[in-house]
Amino acid sequence: MRIFILTCLPEMFDSFLKASILGKAIEANKIQIEVVPLRDFSDPPHYRLDDTPYGGGPGMVMKAEPILRAIASLKKHSPNARVIFPSPSGEVFNQKKATELKVANELIFLCGRYEGVDQRAIDLCVDAEVSIGDYVLMGGEVATMAIIEATTRLLPGVLGNKDSSITESFSETTHGRLLEAPQYTKPSELPSDIAHGSASESLRKVPTVLLSGDHSAINKWRNSEGLARTKARRPDLLK
Ligand code: SAM
Repeated sequence: MRIFILTCLPEMFDSFLKASILGKAIEANKIQIEVVPLRDFSDPPHYRLDDTPYGGGPGMVMKAEPILRAIASLKKHSPNARVIFPSPSGEVFNQKKATELKVANELIFLCGRYEGVDQRAIDLCVDAEVSIGDYVLMGGEVATMAIIEATTRLLPGVLGNKDSSITESFSETTHGRLLEAPQYTKPSELPSDIAHGSASESLRKVPTVLLSGDHSAINKWRNSEGLARTKARRPDLLK
């Protein structure tokens, strides 16, 4: 997958693209990500990316011309790239949308800032508006990072040999899309002095079934815990 990120703040992606699994996937050339500074497509002498809104109102609006120039320039070499605009007005992003997005060969993310983007740029070149939730961020950069993480971790080879994307939260089951069961690691029992003294033994211990080595019993326990958790916390996910 090849991804282009159009942004006024390219420096926000410096550590994001180097760290952890995504950094390794980029290094191994499983994903190519190019951060494109929108300022490179703005007009001298001031290289402005924003201007006052027509009709008045607070804040500034991102100008259409730098965005349209940047996208035209990327489309010369990647004519089929889908343009995604993270925006509170978009359809809410979820695991299903990540699964749909992962089949795209090329994506262009347009990161908004200020009060938003001149609607003409959106109408002329955006293929999909995607929201990451019902709240307002300062810009599209963090939303772009969230969408890239959720999508690229589903690509073959990105998570290594782990097939966690099959069993983790929101994976499809006969009951609907379930949340994942609780997870535990060593030690099998937390010492009482670091477990807030009064915590009961059962809260300090790993459920015995997970120590049993009986994989069928473990799977059964995980399914029923995932189902119980989903019923309690996200009944909307159940069929
Ligand atoms: N005035 C806009 C509104 O009320 O919808 C919000 C603009 S916000 C300060 C600046 C940019 O952040 C947006 O253009 C968008 O790119 C991004 N953004 C903010 N909230 C977002 C969300 N929930 N999901 C995706 N992108 C978001």
